[in-house]
Amino acid sequence: MQDYQAPRDLLAGKVIFITGASDGLGRAAALSYAAHGARLILLGRSQKKLAAVQAQLSAAGYAPATLICQDLAQAEPAVLRAMATQLTAQFGRLDGLLLNAGYLAPLTPFAHISPAEWQTSWQVNVSVNLFLTQALLPLLESTASAHDGASIIFTSSSVGRRGRAYWGSYAVAKFALEGMMQVLADELAGSGVRVNSLNPGATRTPMRAAAYPAEDATQIAAPEARMPLYLYLMGEASRHCHGQALCA
Ligand code: NDP
Repeated sequence: MQDYQAPRDLLAGKVIFITGASDGLGRAAALSYAAHGARLILLGRSQKKLAAVQAQLSAAGYAPATLICQDLAQAEPAVLRAMATQLTAQFGRLDGLLLNAGYLAPLTPFAHISPAEWQTSWQVNVSVNLFLTQALLPLLESTASAHDGASIIFTSSSVGRRGRAYWGSYAVAKFALEGMMQVLADELAGSGVRVNSLNPGATRTPMRAAAYPAEDATQIAAPEARMPLYLYLMGEASRHCHGQALCA
């Protein structure tokens, strides 16, 4: 799957929603999915950074994306439901949901995890993914039955599969996300909506730089190197891949 070579028109006609699309892996996924024909809905919390991604899409000659500026740390379920209603009216279909936005609190000993950091981590890494998936599931299910399936990708981490000292609330939240993926995958078996988790592995992004400020970033894979797996999971080659915890 890491060597997957996507056909140029892999995502032609498809609509894909990406959270955390303003930087890092989410931005790379936006450019990669657009290059393969998708129409995009991009969510981030900075209008300026989203506009910069839009400019990149435009410079490459890709279709303009629908931009949603929303701080997920503040997002109430009702706001996300209203957003889903609006997108249903606008697009009438949703073929893919890449739940990519993540929050990494400063690494700290377990005894020093602060309630505020814990709450933010739980909100951005776990709760919002539940609320957003709930809000968009009817559209994903109707798309899956009318067209050729739909795909939900939860973005995990190595520390969400094997706990590691000092990764605290982030690691616990990613474990929860793996559980969410498994529960949802079991419920959606046979629905046409496939649900998987993806651990991108060490990738050169602002989050990685915050976690490892002293490392030589040139030795770390660029986000673009992860895109074959992101494309595989969004395209029809993965139609039988369901309930899996994948690693790039
Ligand atoms: P980045 O920090 O580079 O990008 C994260 C994206 O999420 C940005 O667009 C950021 O917006 C957005 N985001 C963060 N918080 C919020 C919020 N409250 N509301 C809306 N958007 C928000 O991270 P990566 O690209 O590295 O990470 C992407 C995913 O991959 C995450 O889930 C991460 O946990 C996971 N991951 C990354 C690894 C790595 O080595 N990079 C390894 C394992 C997992 P803004 O630009 O405004 O900050």
